[in-house]
Amino acid sequence: MILRVLGCSGGEAEGHRLTALLVNDAVALDAGCLTQALSVEAQASIRHIFLTHSHLDHICTLPFFTKNIFGRVGTPVEIHALPETLDALRRHLFNDEIWPDFSVIPSPDAPLIRYSELKPGVPCEVEGLRITPIAVHHLVPTVGYLVEDDHSAFLFTSDTGPTDAVYVAANAAKHLNLFITEASFPNAQHGLAEASKHLTPAMLGRELQKLTREVPVAVCHLTPGDQATIWPELQALHHPRLSLLEQDAVFVF
Ligand SMILES: [Zn+2]
Ligand SMILES: [Zn+2]
Repeated sequence: MILRVLGCSGGEAEGHRLTALLVNDAVALDAGCLTQALSVEAQASIRHIFLTHSHLDHICTLPFFTKNIFGRVGTPVEIHALPETLDALRRHLFNDEIWPDFSVIPSPDAPLIRYSELKPGVPCEVEGLRITPIAVHHLVPTVGYLVEDDHSAFLFTSDTGPTDAVYVAANAAKHLNLFITEASFPNAQHGLAEASKHLTPAMLGRELQKLTREVPVAVCHLTPGDQATIWPELQALHHPRLSLLEQDAVFVF
């Protein structure tokens, strides 16, 4: 399995970190920066997009993605997500007001994108991968994903406050090579993290006690202006396998 962490142009600290991971060049998890990170040809190779939730930093390049691939793909790109997330896309994004409804264009029978509802805990098999959505604890209905092939796996929690099911799934996975999670706010903003259902480094430290697998833990979703505070707080956890999830990183499992 090849996992690419898609980076936004400019890369470093300034500007919001937008979330998107690409697996085997064909399956994306979230769509925060598909169009900045990938050539149009590479975008047209994406057959499936699994969204974790409806927040803008996870979906914001979907409209430009549809424009870029229009006329370049023979079959619809499948957008997999919770019903609530798909409903938000229908109502607020692909609604003909903000952006054309590409779920019926060029025709309802052969649209550019097709919505596919996920149920937490029910795996979906695509492109030789088994992708299991796992409910996490965030402001809107949100799932993380366990992504597995026959030899390897990683788990991406997406945005979440304290939660349990992703740790149960990670601990039970047949293979596990990487655990990707978040630390959005510094410890001093514990109240904000609780209110917005994210994690601070201290909260993440308690969360990681639930992970019994000795795998690398990569942390993302740091608030850009607070990275200089959050990273030392993460280091202070003295977790032996913890690092930041670097933009443009490539993992080969
Ligand atoms: Zn979010
Ligand atoms: Zn987010």
